[in-house]
Amino acid sequence: MNKYDYLIIGQGLAGSLLAWELLQRGCKIMVIDNGLESASQIAAGLINPVTGMRLVKSAEVEHLLPSAMRCYEQLSQLFKQDFYIEKPMLRLLNNELLLTNAHKRLADPAYKDYVKAIIATDAYPYLEQQHTGYLQTRLLLSTLKQYFIELGCYRQSILNYEDIRLLPLLSWQDISFKKIIFCEGHHASQNPWYSWLPFQLVKGEILSLQHQSQLPDVIYNFGEWLIPLDKQHLRLGASFDREQLNNEPTLKAKNTLLQSLQNSGIDLSELFVTDHQANIRPCTLDKQPFIGEHPQLPQLAIFNGFGAKGSLQIPKFCQLFADALQNQSPYPSSIRRYYATHFTH
Ligand SMILES: Cc1cc2nc3c(=O)[nH]c(=O)nc-3n(C[C@H](O)[C@H](O)[C@H](O)COP(=O)(O)OP(=O)(O)OC[C@H]3O[C@@H](n4cnc5c(N)ncnc54)[C@H](O)[C@@H]3O)c2cc1C
Repeated sequence: MNKYDYLIIGQGLAGSLLAWELLQRGCKIMVIDNGLESASQIAAGLINPVTGMRLVKSAEVEHLLPSAMRCYEQLSQLFKQDFYIEKPMLRLLNNELLLTNAHKRLADPAYKDYVKAIIATDAYPYLEQQHTGYLQTRLLLSTLKQYFIELGCYRQSILNYEDIRLLPLLSWQDISFKKIIFCEGHHASQNPWYSWLPFQLVKGEILSLQHQSQLPDVIYNFGEWLIPLDKQHLRLGASFDREQLNNEPTLKAKNTLLQSLQNSGIDLSELFVTDHQANIRPCTLDKQPFIGEHPQLPQLAIFNGFGAKGSLQIPKFCQLFADALQNQSPYPSSIRRYYATHFTH
């Protein structure tokens, strides 16, 4: 039997970047993925440090953002491709609350790296944000998949849980492992060892658009966001639906997104929808990732729950998780916080 350190289940953004981190550290890994379209592939990959009506910084953004930028820059250098595209964001201030909060943030030294100025227009003003941009997730994942294939550490396969042998050796097919790490995104809600974790899955839909207008090279945010990919192509998203948890695009979400774009006042001529995709975000009850070993089977671990912020969060958590796997340091965002609720000793 071939011996490996880690079997990683899932080649979304979490599994891919974890595999990359562990390979950098000299670990012997195998990645398996079912080859179906994932949330990571259709995601806009947006990184926006200051969000919501209150315009608050994402938790730990000072640590998460530099790690993410370092990670995507290293990958760009190795593969000679730009994966992360930095672009300023214009946040539409179309109500009093947003305008008041924008003034507050501009006056707050803790926000000086992220908010720049209020730009007046004939209609509503905009808040200019910086350190914003988007990760080209589909390109990054296909590049990493090819890299893993060349290293002989990728197999396209559906993992059936009953095919994992726990004893006498932790193994799957012809390979044995020290640990199996589940990075299955929303599919974890069907995982027999982890379905007890309080996921709060959220479906998202996103549109690809073509147009013929002259637009400034910025990301617009008007509650939804509009990302220019090039002079004619845009992405518009994304919806949030906690009820219909499937990957079927709906007319309702499409119309809501297009209506929101129309209300934003951004003028687009000869606008066509060229694509419409849907998938499921692995969000969690307390908005924190789910990381760590199974309480009764320490040879199984999970790395999941990055919700709507995978591009920002995953690189830093990969480093901390790899540290924990290798140096026995504590797991970041450990699922230990839910042990007491679900397991009695
Ligand atoms: C419409 C939409 C827009 C989004 N926009 C953004 C954004 O702008 N910015 C941002 O940061 N995040 C965004 N997200 C969220 C982002 O997609 C997630 O944070 C991130 O992709 C989660 O990655 P993951 O690897 O955990 O899960 P996934 O991407 O779901 O990957 C899991 C992988 O595991 C595979 N798998 C699962 N079970 C098995 C099995 N049994 N056998 C084999 N393979 C298996 C799946 O096929 C998949 O490839 C968006 C999500 C959606 C749906």
